[in-house]
Amino acid sequence: MSAGAEVKGWCPGALRPMMSGDGLVVRVRPFGARLTRAQVDGLATLAAAHGNGLIDLSSRGNVQVRGVTEESHPKLISGLQRMGLVDATETAERRRNLIVTPFWLTGDGTERFTTELTQALAAPDAPDLPYKFGFAVDTGQQPVLQTASADIRLERDAGAGYILVADGAAVGKPVTSDTIVAEAIALARWFMDNRGEHRRMRKLLAAGADLPPGHFVPRQEQEYQPKPGFTPLGAMVALALGQLQVDTLASLAKHGGVRLTPWRMLLVESARRLPEIEGLITDPDDPLLRVVACTGAPRCLQGHAETRPLARQLASRLPSGQFLHISGCAKGCGHPGKAPLTITATPDGFDLIEDGRAADTPARRNLTPDDIFKAV
Ligand code: SF4
Repeated sequence: MSAGAEVKGWCPGALRPMMSGDGLVVRVRPFGARLTRAQVDGLATLAAAHGNGLIDLSSRGNVQVRGVTEESHPKLISGLQRMGLVDATETAERRRNLIVTPFWLTGDGTERFTTELTQALAAPDAPDLPYKFGFAVDTGQQPVLQTASADIRLERDAGAGYILVADGAAVGKPVTSDTIVAEAIALARWFMDNRGEHRRMRKLLAAGADLPPGHFVPRQEQEYQPKPGFTPLGAMVALALGQLQVDTLASLAKHGGVRLTPWRMLLVESARRLPEIEGLITDPDDPLLRVVACTGAPRCLQGHAETRPLARQLASRLPSGQFLHISGCAKGCGHPGKAPLTITATPDGFDLIEDGRAADTPARRNLTPDDIFKAV
């Protein structure tokens, strides 16, 4: 990682917020990756009362209330507790690192597995996993979370049976609806026993670790590409640059509960029509979908430059199908994976990285904004 990126090694939670350039960031992890209509409305009211009116959606599908103060934090937490949106302890909150397919159907196992996994990770003897280690409950009809960050994946095979997949492996272990969660925890324990210095499953496997026996079933390949639009389960809406105002959230609450996704999009349950709501993208060809930008300066203390104004300016220049990641520093929180083009702010300007992550070796260094406009 290049100079200037401060690695904190942990992510904020609700009970353990993180200080940022605009106050505390309070990350709410909705249980089951879902908010009821009342919770959406209540969250908007709480964020308006105790934050600065801005809400982010993280790449793990969590909701971040920004601009909270030391004084307002306890009031925000008691409001969240009343709505059932906070874990019992900081440890349980930290371990509950789950993303869930938004396309689950009642009775398809997803709700049950998510609940059981939540309980298992809150147990006193749960494995003490590294901060960013997480689980993907991707047990809808088709896999949709394969490109989202997770270390242990619960999926279906081509015959609709369940498999358990260690991230980075091409095959999974056949399991049943009764064993899948216990097997997921066993795989997490295996990781802890074998990880050495590694903090993520993919890195451990890439370093040559052999999985325990039983992983041999080929995975299904994901065809789904996240995009806004109407689905049989409701309306998928995207947040411009992953952020929204509390008023936008309050407007959304009038239309239904929401399922959270790792794509900076929300699935508004059962919505068949949506009016224009400022700050929400419903057009799959909207240029703002071609850029992702982290918080950047000045709201993030590690940021070397503002990212979102630059992203808005560059979006309309990008051809359809192009994708650009703009990062305020080499940490790359906005898009931890590779992107065809990444611009990383540094103390000396901007680096341009091709087909890589924010911290990778740049093709060009120390660019000015003008240089970037010419390059993109
Ligand atoms: S990547 Fe962006 S949000 Fe993350 S620490 Fe750096 S500047 Fe802050």
